[in-house]
Amino acid sequence: MLKPLAPVSRRRFLAGAAGFGALGLLPEGLHAAPAPHRFRHGDFEVTVISDGYLTAPSFFQATNVPPEEREAFFSEHGISLDELRSEANITLIRADDDLILFDTGSGKGFQPTAGAINDSLAAAGFDPADITKVVFTHGHPDHIWGTILPDGGLRFPNAAYYSAADEWDFWNGEAVFTHFPSEMHDLAREAQRQYAAVRNAVTMVKPGDDIVTGIHVLSTPGHTPGHVSFEVEGGDGLIVVADAIVHPVIYFAHPDWQFAFDAAPDVAAETRRTLLDRAATDKVKLLGFHWDYPGVGFAKRRGNGYTFMAEG
Ligand SMILES: [Zn+2]
Repeated sequence: MLKPLAPVSRRRFLAGAAGFGALGLLPEGLHAAPAPHRFRHGDFEVTVISDGYLTAPSFFQATNVPPEEREAFFSEHGISLDELRSEANITLIRADDDLILFDTGSGKGFQPTAGAINDSLAAAGFDPADITKVVFTHGHPDHIWGTILPDGGLRFPNAAYYSAADEWDFWNGEAVFTHFPSEMHDLAREAQRQYAAVRNAVTMVKPGDDIVTGIHVLSTPGHTPGHVSFEVEGGDGLIVVADAIVHPVIYFAHPDWQFAFDAAPDVAAETRRTLLDRAATDKVKLLGFHWDYPGVGFAKRRGNGYTFMAEG
């Protein structure tokens, strides 16, 4: 029998992770950010900005797989059965006069190893005040909790903000409190606080809309109800995947294996299959938020699944 992850485990984890910030235990500059990875893509300049990294128990991965199959796969691919480290790769794109940032990272309130965005921006030669557009992929802590500075101001004071309307509505409606168990309500409240800080500067978008000419919104639901990725024109294409695929080995090989934090696992699996099929067929370059830095590469078919071919 399959034994899916008990929901209480992920609740406890999230509650614990969120607690770091509440306790004020987060030193600045803890994480030494890697040198910035930069490449040209069509008319755009892409820089991958590290927000540090996150750690989580391995049992959040492949939750619908028999233990022996899961263990064999993890061992074969050198994936720890105890704890996984996942990077936090924030995409920054220069498009003419715009500097467009995809997500704001964790801030200092989620995990002590994350929230390094300011250091990484500086290492890449950018100042937070230079950012003209911030685009949210979804409302999870590691993607939006960097929006507000500890002093209450906006980290990116000169930016216009963009959110998929479905995702905004999910987090900012009362239904979010019935969707999540009570242990996770603090998380939902913090998402609402972060979103509220930009409510006068945010534009709602939907799949197919342009952020600027050549960069448009791609529907990739399942991880969260309104999760979106972004397609960047040029060459054979580039997709800023965000969390539609959270691990480049596990879910490339097995798009149907489930991740504990996917809100709708079946929808998430369908999204992965669609995305990977297209990426492999059209040789689209992919950039994954949680993949090993810089998280840039391609999907190649292998067996019933795919394999990730890293670039850079
Ligand atoms: Zn994430």
